[in-house]
Amino acid sequence: MPHPFFRPERLFVQKGLTVVAQQFASDNYAGICPEVWDVMQQANEGSVPAYGDDEWTNRASDSFRTLFGTRCEVFFAFNGTAANSLALAALCQSYNSVICSSFAHVETDECGAPEFFSNGSKLLVARTDRAKLYPEDIRALATCRSDIHYPKPKVVTITQPTETGEVYSLEEIRAIADTCRELGLRFHMDGARFANACAALGCSPAEMTWQAGVDVLCFGGTKNGMAVGEAILFFDPALAEGFDYRCKQAGQLASKMRFISAPWIGLLETGAWLRNGRHGNTCASRLAERVKALPGLALMFPTQANAVFLKAPEHVLDGLRKRGWRFYTFIGGGARFMFAWDADHERVAQLAADIEALAA
Ligand SMILES: *Cc1c(COP(=O)(O)O)cnc(C)c1O
Repeated sequence: MPHPFFRPERLFVQKGLTVVAQQFASDNYAGICPEVWDVMQQANEGSVPAYGDDEWTNRASDSFRTLFGTRCEVFFAFNGTAANSLALAALCQSYNSVICSSFAHVETDECGAPEFFSNGSKLLVARTDRAKLYPEDIRALATCRSDIHYPKPKVVTITQPTETGEVYSLEEIRAIADTCRELGLRFHMDGARFANACAALGCSPAEMTWQAGVDVLCFGGTKNGMAVGEAILFFDPALAEGFDYRCKQAGQLASKMRFISAPWIGLLETGAWLRNGRHGNTCASRLAERVKALPGLALMFPTQANAVFLKAPEHVLDGLRKRGWRFYTFIGGGARFMFAWDADHERVAQLAADIEALAA
């Protein structure tokens, strides 16, 4: 029995044989963007050498070097968990530790993979109630012990934008990098939504990474419009030694590599990476603007990228579910809405209207 507020004519769009309503529960609900699809189709022509020894993979790596304006080492993995875990493992010995926020994906959503792939490097979690990590958090964790019984701090990892949709400013990133240099720590960035952060700050990828002192970046392709795939960029080539073997051993070397490398050409060379990021951010800020001042409602975090976290009374959340909306509440009990490259402005407006109606 459909709920009386269910309005199928507005909720559904026809796509092939399946009828689907666009949801904003995760940016991973989105499909493949046209620019990526187009290059994948081109890469599907003919017979091409395997395991990354091909022109598509060379060109994708060069696209990264052009975009970042530096000769970085580039590797491709299937997903973000592998990219983060292997990058951290490359920076650590098993007796080292990695400093992160308590909100960090590596801590809360990777099933211990960073520890597993590093053979035991421990995550040292900053016990704060915010997603951003600050120099004082790092200093506290890195200097509280220096004896043989404590896992020796070696790396700092931050998520840009954070899991709560906040963006570190360039000044904040540089301050973390300065702290890392001073304490002898390496600096890793989880950029699962890197494009959204670049769009939000209006800065270049170089400014946000190697020019600010980041050593290794995991650049998210999946949430940016690809089917699968993340890139790992080492700005100091010496740190990438043996990383190809690490990827292979972890089951992350694609035999038909061109299908996870070529899609990057579609994102990077056409500018789609930034357009997609900007679009997601625009949709998030439109929703946030409409709902932030409604009675009984509040944004849990400033909306700076493509996420909106909404604190709302249970009857509003329940009402949204009954109207067919899907969302997660795993961070602080509020509703999380994520906007990808394909977010439909009308559907965003519909969500806003439903929230307004329920809050009234
Ligand atoms: C999505 C995401 C990842 C990657 O997750 P996978 O499911 O392993 O691809 C990594 N970090 C953050 C912050 C994410 O949101």
